[in-house]
Amino acid sequence: MRMALVLMSVVGILIALSSAPAVAGAGPDGKTAGGSTPAVDVGNKICPVTGEKIGSMEHEKATKVEYKGKLYNLCCPMCAAEFKKNPAKYVKVVEKELESSKKKPS
Ligand SMILES: [Zn+2]
Repeated sequence: MRMALVLMSVVGILIALSSAPAVAGAGPDGKTAGGSTPAVDVGNKICPVTGEKIGSMEHEKATKVEYKGKLYNLCCPMCAAEFKKNPAKYVKVVEKELESSKKKPS
């Protein structure tokens, strides 16, 4: 009788353990519940270093640089290196671009 009770509780724990990850991974839409917060893509379309549009044919090497928890889009790795030399300057350029793109939706 006692053995049966122990078995029952063991089974119960196993069920709880196996169902827990399924529930956690069920709907992670929105913010991730993990410890580290992923960097947010600022979504700029113009490389702040060269001032060129990112994503056109000649910019297949488009890359992203993380700075202060944000991802900045750059047209090539060379610009990424340049960005890292003077991030504050280029962040301002990106912010200007984002602001002007908000004001006049083409
Ligand atoms: Zn570039």
